[in-house]
Amino acid sequence: MRTLIYGGQVIDPASGTDGRLNVLIENGKIAAVCAGEPEADERICAAGRVVCPGFVDIHVHEDPVGPDGRIYSDPDRAVFANMLRMGVTTVAGGNCGANVYDPGDYLDIVDRDGAFVNVAMLAGHGYFRALSGAGDEYAPASPGQISALADSLRDALDRGCAGISYGIRYAPGTTAEELARTMSVLRGTGKPAACHLRDDAAAVFGALAEFADTAEALGVPAEVSHIGSMAGFGQMERFLAAVDARRARGADIMCDCYPYSAFSTGLGSATYDDGWLERYGCGYDALELCEGEYKGQRCTQEIFRKVRREFPSCRTVCYVMQPAEVELALTHPAVMLASDATMHLGQGHPRAAGTFPRLIAEYVRPGRLRLYDAVEKMTAMPARRYGLKGKGTLAVGADADIVVFDPEKIRDTATFADPIRPPEGIDLVLLGGTPAARDGCIVSSGLGRAVRT
Ligand SMILES: [Zn+2]
Repeated sequence: MRTLIYGGQVIDPASGTDGRLNVLIENGKIAAVCAGEPEADERICAAGRVVCPGFVDIHVHEDPVGPDGRIYSDPDRAVFANMLRMGVTTVAGGNCGANVYDPGDYLDIVDRDGAFVNVAMLAGHGYFRALSGAGDEYAPASPGQISALADSLRDALDRGCAGISYGIRYAPGTTAEELARTMSVLRGTGKPAACHLRDDAAAVFGALAEFADTAEALGVPAEVSHIGSMAGFGQMERFLAAVDARRARGADIMCDCYPYSAFSTGLGSATYDDGWLERYGCGYDALELCEGEYKGQRCTQEIFRKVRREFPSCRTVCYVMQPAEVELALTHPAVMLASDATMHLGQGHPRAAGTFPRLIAEYVRPGRLRLYDAVEKMTAMPARRYGLKGKGTLAVGADADIVVFDPEKIRDTATFADPIRPPEGIDLVLLGGTPAARDGCIVSSGLGRAVRT
């Protein structure tokens, strides 16, 4: 079976391609990118459209596994379904130290059942930390627990996990020794450590140093997660300068960011421990509850205390980042796009359904970012960062994961009130050469496979 996508503007930053070209797909792989029109069984016209590699999202919180041993796959409300609708074809789950399930087993389930998108996994430090017996996230782990934890992480990497994720914010008992010991299992693998830093706002600089110094000393690639919600409160310029200074001396450090000026996390998390109002310079009304009795409402001190006590898993959205700071991050050459998608039964933050189209609608069309650079931040950069072979590129032999969109019309429509509204302007998403989504609707749901590194 040969398919030709013809007449579009082909953008593939991994190979430096940008021009009016045709893409030939054969047996699920890219067979040619050329000016000519080779014969094909099926021809897809892409005139007026951009044709680029399917987007790669390296910071996702994966869908849960049910009691039946299957991944949650509601076609509207699953994270992976929302990813597919916005043109993402490969994700990395297991971020911020958290896994919903053993990550090696999760990859096996994806291969057994298929998924909406291709799935890579990080081994979550916090997940394995709890399993090692260090169940109190505020207390240091014992030497024996740290050793067991390191063994579990190494085992997960051996099973194909793409790196280790840390959520030091959520496991503040993590010591320098624990960080170094567990990160050392990455040495020599080329796989990165990703980190939701210990602290944010004014305290972000020390938190960056803690993570980045450890990675640098071990020679491990460092990925700083969702920096908009770490340094988007007036610290971004200095934060990026600190990252640049490290890069200038040869450190392998990069960052990711989502294009929204509000973050989302559970009300019971350490993010809302005492001092958060001072840290972000806001009031209780910066906080919106996404579930339960106060759904859609801004907080008061009274509601905050009541819900944090009675319903600590309640999803929240916190409107505290500065849009100019988020823009500074997203236009920086060492920062790639990632959604930090998380979704609880269709509730949560619109980033899970809007992040990728939004970068083009809000940054490219108004002239803040070149289209080519935006596509690079959504394809080649993340795929290379996590060593996802055959992804994020249209090179001959790569998997034919492709998105075709209208650069004048693509936009996100998901909102905080309606976080799963599908985007507009995306004509076609292919996984392995087969249509998976068309015009914002999923047409094939099980094409995704595990991506092991
Ligand atoms: Zn996080």
